[in-house]
Amino acid sequence: MSQETLDSPPPRICILTADSGGGHRAATRSLTEALTGRARVSALSLLDDHTPFPINTLSEVYGPSVNFAPNVYHILYQAIASRRRIVALERAAYPLVHRRIAKALADEQPDLWISVHPLQVDVPIWNLRQMGSRAPFVTVVTDPVTPHPAWFCPDTDLCVVATEAAREVALACGVPPQRVQVIGLPIRRAFEEPRTETKAETRSRLGLAPDCPLVLMTGGGAGIGRMLPIARAVTARLAHSAARAQIVIIAGRNQTLLEQVRSQRWPIPLTAVGYVENMADWLAAANLLISKAGPGTLAEAACLGIPVLITDYVPGQEAGNIAWVEQHGAGVYEADPGRIAALVEEWLQPGHTALAAMAAQARAIARPQAAAKIADAALALLRERTVA
Ligand code: UDP
Repeated sequence: MSQETLDSPPPRICILTADSGGGHRAATRSLTEALTGRARVSALSLLDDHTPFPINTLSEVYGPSVNFAPNVYHILYQAIASRRRIVALERAAYPLVHRRIAKALADEQPDLWISVHPLQVDVPIWNLRQMGSRAPFVTVVTDPVTPHPAWFCPDTDLCVVATEAAREVALACGVPPQRVQVIGLPIRRAFEEPRTETKAETRSRLGLAPDCPLVLMTGGGAGIGRMLPIARAVTARLAHSAARAQIVIIAGRNQTLLEQVRSQRWPIPLTAVGYVENMADWLAAANLLISKAGPGTLAEAACLGIPVLITDYVPGQEAGNIAWVEQHGAGVYEADPGRIAALVEEWLQPGHTALAAMAAQARAIARPQAAAKIADAALALLRERTVA
């Protein structure tokens, strides 16, 4: 048992999160797992549950707006992609939201706050300072390479980022260097635990053909990206090839995509599922991941040594993730469905070595311990404050 639990009741920690995509929820889960036994952890979404309409719909419209109007999303993203502009926008919204947010924060009153969402950093910090709260505030940035300036309130007590590039953004936004730590993206425990099954055994448990290579397609929690045309191109190509494969599409919360995929006939075995809780199993069963450049998914694939073919990205915050994967040789970016299909066919040819090489590179960039290290850093901060 740790010293913390022997000497005093475990501290209360509240994680500020939201349902936009799946990355924030996954980060919340991983930090909760890492803190279990050392703190009492709760989660709160100020954005989804404690703001007025239409602000409270932002999480819900995130997936559809990125999917159906990526250019509009990009223009809006760029319009507020400076510390000065995002702060001006948040200050303009503050009178509309601060009373309800103050009540939610006061109801919770933990010993320490952790935010894993860029739109829940400035406003709660301003609110807490106004309320006279001394509880430390930790920001855990879940966009590893090109994070939005909204993440970087200079008044945060600790800002955890995943890469040196993100640290540079934090410093440029005015976060004092001593408050920035480069640790990594928090990943759920299921992705770091040693696997006891072979790929064939996992496939069998998931109801798939055990001996047929698996190409897994995902688009984050909201099912973002062009999975349908890409699946058509890949399956058409593999149907007339020596390369054998089965496909699984994880549509996440994109119900329209799930229905569209299920209503079609496919020339090779293809399974479509909605939001899954056991992503580690599906990834571990795969030989290749086809995905948008979601940071959580890429980091999880790296932990399990799964090569990735990136086909889409959310403009702005995910753009840098592509270079991160390609520079390390853990995957490739290709947007054209025809060329994607050609690459998949080439890599799945018997005896081809590309997938094994990328899998080794993926393992080399994995940081499976990040959640535990972030938990340590947050609890150390709390101890410092308690002593001071
Ligand atoms: N995820 C999941 N089940 C699903 C789809 C996604 O658990 O059916 C998780 C996935 O494992 C990852 C997160 O949702 O942890 C997606 O995060 P990412 O940063 O890749 O993209 P986002 O959804 O935030 O755009």
